[in-house]
Amino acid sequence: MKRSARYLCLLLLFALPVVAQEAVAAKPSQSPEASMSPSGEEIWADLMLGNKRFMAGESQHTDLVPLRQKLVQGQHPKVIVLACSDSRVAPEILFDKSLGDLFVVRAAGNIADAIGVGSIEYAVEHLGSSVLVVLGHEKCGAVTAACSEEKMPTPNLQAIVDKINPAVLRAKPHSKPEDLVDTAIRENVHQSAQDIMRTSAVLREALQSGKLTVVEAVYKLASGEVVRLDKLSLIVPAFKLDVGDVMRAP
Ligand SMILES: [Zn+2]
Repeated sequence: MKRSARYLCLLLLFALPVVAQEAVAAKPSQSPEASMSPSGEEIWADLMLGNKRFMAGESQHTDLVPLRQKLVQGQHPKVIVLACSDSRVAPEILFDKSLGDLFVVRAAGNIADAIGVGSIEYAVEHLGSSVLVVLGHEKCGAVTAACSEEKMPTPNLQAIVDKINPAVLRAKPHSKPEDLVDTAIRENVHQSAQDIMRTSAVLREALQSGKLTVVEAVYKLASGEVVRLDKLSLIVPAFKLDVGDVMRAP
């Protein structure tokens, strides 16, 4: 065998196992980390179990002192919740979760402004959160104010209503006057989810790559139930990634 041919054989002998190993490592199903991490839908199913406990008056998570001590080391919340500031809509309570479980961003009308979106980016990029729940609720005062079309008494209150108004305008042609607030509440949840994706390249990329799951939902005050919006009627279907639409949105 010529020297060049022997060299080629040796090269193949050493190179092939490396190529084979890389091919195995590239398969996501073989990664132990991937197989251990729950999917976005599994995490949502766990939140729904917590919500059922809350509805039934069987909430857990009362042993807070040792948990508080454990969390001094750091936080790794799997879930981000964008919710309204309304005192009746406390995410940790209605999902029966505890310290360290939820990264919560709250503003009247569950609106997504730059600071809210930045907070969500921080949780996804630095804390490893992989599910974002955009949560509206029945009888939302901020959405009701937007539906009233009245001028707000301060510029800051007007800023909240201005952010919700496009959702009200979309809801109007599809709703009887007596149903307008309920329809606008659902549409406003959808609008917040769209606003987040429209204004954050980081979160769009996380959604496209499967690193982030977005769930839109509405909380019912009397029953305590959190209902995912794809189970309710929406003017625009519940959130689906369409980067073209997101980029074209005003
Ligand atoms: Zn509200």
